Amino acid sequence: MPLRTASFRIAKILGIPIYLDATWLLIFSYVTYLLGANFRQQHPQWTGAQPWVLGILTSVLFFGSVIFHELAHSVVALHYKIPVHSITLFLFGGIARIGREPSKPIQEFNIAIAGPLASFFLAGAFGAITLIFPPGQMIGALAAYLAGTNLLLGAFNLAPGFPLDGGRIFRAIIWGILKDFSRATLIAGASGKVVAYALMGIGGYMAFYKNDLSNGLWLGVIGLYLLNAAQQSIAQVTIRESLAGLHAADVMSHEVPTVSGHLTLEEYGAEVLRTGRRCHLVLSGDRLVGMMNVHTLNGVPREDWAHNSVQAAMIPRERIQWTSPEEPLLRLLERLLAADINQMPVVSGAGNGAPQIVGMVTRDSILRVMQTHSELAAQVSGK
Ligand SMILES: [Zn+2]
Repeated sequence: MPLRTASFRIAKILGIPIYLDATWLLIFSYVTYLLGANFRQQHPQWTGAQPWVLGILTSVLFFGSVIFHELAHSVVALHYKIPVHSITLFLFGGIARIGREPSKPIQEFNIAIAGPLASFFLAGAFGAITLIFPPGQMIGALAAYLAGTNLLLGAFNLAPGFPLDGGRIFRAIIWGILKDFSRATLIAGASGKVVAYALMGIGGYMAFYKNDLSNGLWLGVIGLYLLNAAQQSIAQVTIRESLAGLHAADVMSHEVPTVSGHLTLEEYGAEVLRTGRRCHLVLSGDRLVGMMNVHTLNGVPREDWAHNSVQAAMIPRERIQWTSPEEPLLRLLERLLAADINQMPVVSGAGNGAPQIVGMVTRDSILRVMQTHSELAAQVSGK
């Protein structure tokens, strides 16, 4: 998700924590305001706070409907033993964060279609309520609005642009036909871009030719969001392909620079400048006690460097994250990014005899492989 803002937990359903993103408050107040104003205009007989109370209630039920939609995805995912980490409501609706990609096309198909089906179910249920309570009454007005929005929600999500539900259904079908997950993702990602540009085009048309600035702008922003998401899914496949079959041993450097823990940080800084090496294992005698790098050095104020030792500032041995020569590069890169660290020592022979540090893997060395891969790919396809 491109938006990284504060979010708070409001509930836990089926063991899944439900979060509200801070951006959600914006859209909630806006929707509530629009609804209240709308109800007051359409039902002048309603007095005082009535239209606003109904506005808030409708708004809450609308966002409840979005959660219901995401829960439907989640229940099917859980059925396939795919963990669901969270459901978050944010500016553009809801998102269910599932633990991994489905392993079969039919699983993805069922997980994706569950959401729109749930929305259509709610549309039908609210529609049935309007048959009992006419829209002139408060309950009827509320139900009519929710029937309409759930219908729209289900239909919009069926648009065949990845990562919308329709795009996932589309990917599942192509995946099933081609038996190739990566190519299916690339094709669905391309369709996602088409849908995104179409939304921006329609948004622009509404804003400039129909004088409907707010709806036009809104479609444009959703288009931008989808474009970004589609590009990310394409980039992920590219990364996955360039790192396929490679392991830590392929990119590690075999030299393992060491420093003594008794060095002051001043001296360590000088060592880094002299050698250009940015990461060292810290020894006390010939015992490994920790790891030191430029990032950690920069965490200490410059004026404290003279009277602090490497041993006092380093990452202690028990907090170092290790890799093995056999670890697949994709997983290693994910671990580096998740822990926000730049390098990991490579340890071999944990099985037989004493474990031994055989090298270092850096984030840069993995990125170089990806870059070289894309340069070669461009040469091969660009002639
Ligand atoms: Zn959905």
